[in-house]
Amino acid sequence: MKLSQMPYTHLDLDEIKAFYEKLIADSKNAKSGEEQFALHQKYTKYAEEIRTEFVLGRFRHDIDTTDEFYSKENDYFDEIGPVLSNLDNEYQKVLFNSPFRSYLEEKISKIFFKNIELRNNSISDEILPLMQEENALVSKYDKIIATAKIPFDGEEYNISLLRKKLTDENRDTRKRAWKALSEYFTSVTDEIDDIYDKLVKNRTEQARKLGYDNYVELGYNRMQRNAYRRAEVENFRKQVKESFVPFVCEIQEKRKQQIGVDELKYYDNDMFFKNGNPAPTGTPEEIMKSGQEMYSELSPETKEFFDFMMENELFDVLGRKTKKAGGYMDYLPKYKAPIIFANFNGTSGDVDVITHECGHAFQGFVTRNDEIPEHNDLTMETAEIHSMSMEYFTYGWMNKFFGDRSEDYLKMHLQDSITFIPYGCMVDEFQHIVYDKPEMTPAERKQVWKELEKTYRPWLDFDGDEFFDEGGFWQKQGHIFWNPFYYIDYVLASVVAMQFKVWMDKDYKEAWEHYLELCKLSARDFYETELEEVGLKSPFKDGTIEELTKEMKAKV
Ligand SMILES: [Zn+2]
Repeated sequence: MKLSQMPYTHLDLDEIKAFYEKLIADSKNAKSGEEQFALHQKYTKYAEEIRTEFVLGRFRHDIDTTDEFYSKENDYFDEIGPVLSNLDNEYQKVLFNSPFRSYLEEKISKIFFKNIELRNNSISDEILPLMQEENALVSKYDKIIATAKIPFDGEEYNISLLRKKLTDENRDTRKRAWKALSEYFTSVTDEIDDIYDKLVKNRTEQARKLGYDNYVELGYNRMQRNAYRRAEVENFRKQVKESFVPFVCEIQEKRKQQIGVDELKYYDNDMFFKNGNPAPTGTPEEIMKSGQEMYSELSPETKEFFDFMMENELFDVLGRKTKKAGGYMDYLPKYKAPIIFANFNGTSGDVDVITHECGHAFQGFVTRNDEIPEHNDLTMETAEIHSMSMEYFTYGWMNKFFGDRSEDYLKMHLQDSITFIPYGCMVDEFQHIVYDKPEMTPAERKQVWKELEKTYRPWLDFDGDEFFDEGGFWQKQGHIFWNPFYYIDYVLASVVAMQFKVWMDKDYKEAWEHYLELCKLSARDFYETELEEVGLKSPFKDGTIEELTKEMKAKV
């Protein structure tokens, strides 16, 4: 069914509550594992219906934020969202404590039950007021970022529009743009420091009330880290420091030549070529058409996927003034249909929608017939492998999008992906230090960041800029505020996607088959077990990163 024709029904909260009440009562009284599982399947179907209305309503609001009906629905979702997740938790507790638990684990999945345990250990009525305050603090930060009005060259820019100027091919323009950004952050840094200080103290208090020493353990539980913990992540970062940092230093030397400067400054960040970074050549319609051709050539599975997306008009990617900013992929379980939301803006980001977001959507599509939806309860370090690997699997078709600059695009993509690895680790280590010592002052936190810059980005020269040089850069990284310990997921996924890159350069078909296998595995098993099953190496194991570095060096 075409996305625009899917019927939408307003969710009736009383009805939903009544369903859960009965479900919980019946489930508690179940006389056998079979009976309880049959009830669970009824629940699953019902939850899928609700989820579909939810995703559809949100999506219709996002594609036109001026639509009054869906605007109200969107507010309604904000209101009932916590109630729904509470109902889910209550029901899941019954399953968790069921006398037929081992039968259910066999039928549903072990991971599902591990995740319930992590969730149960992350919440209590006592900390609800703190959680509400936490949300309010995050919104306050978001508002500072979203409402920024930055004067530049006689006009006013918000941060996302200024981004184009930060990578302008004219060095003087981007230097002044970075200065303007720095001045904006200087004007709000005290406020951001204050928000973050309160967030750190708030989260620490939540953790202590739940019986933890500090927030780190709780943060891991909230990220659903069901297969690895701090020690593994620390070992990963150690390997990155040893192998990737020197590798990235070499890439910076190359970039210096590519953009024709004697010394790299911070305003040369994200610049890859003297004549500017490559952008797609076609109109949005042409980009979509090239996407369809590409996926029809790549494999029978991707052809079926993309044709399905186009036939059912499951993309809304054109930039419009009344649309919400950003881009994402979501999934409508009732129709077994992935949907993609984006705002094309003429940069290489438009092609990322066709590669990266479609990687996520493709994975949703290939697992659409799995009877156990819990198999798709993906954690981010796994979900991002699907999308980031697709960026590599589609390398061979980039001439369709970038014309005679496709080689430049590939070089940029590779160098950028590699350069990101130490940065992502720095964001992660920063947060561990911060939550280990919540009593630090804002000035001490900036000092920590400044020190980490020397370890992870020794090439970076902030040219004496008073904000960035004094350890302020992290204040523009939203993840640090939204979800502590989230960022490392991108890094972990990226080094696995690079393993696929190495593999496909040796044997494309074999690499693709194993990628497909990984997509189908979804979240059926624990992270490292799945990697091993499809012939990939765990980023936590000694030697993985060193070996990967060697292989990748030959490619840039
Ligand atoms: Zn993604």
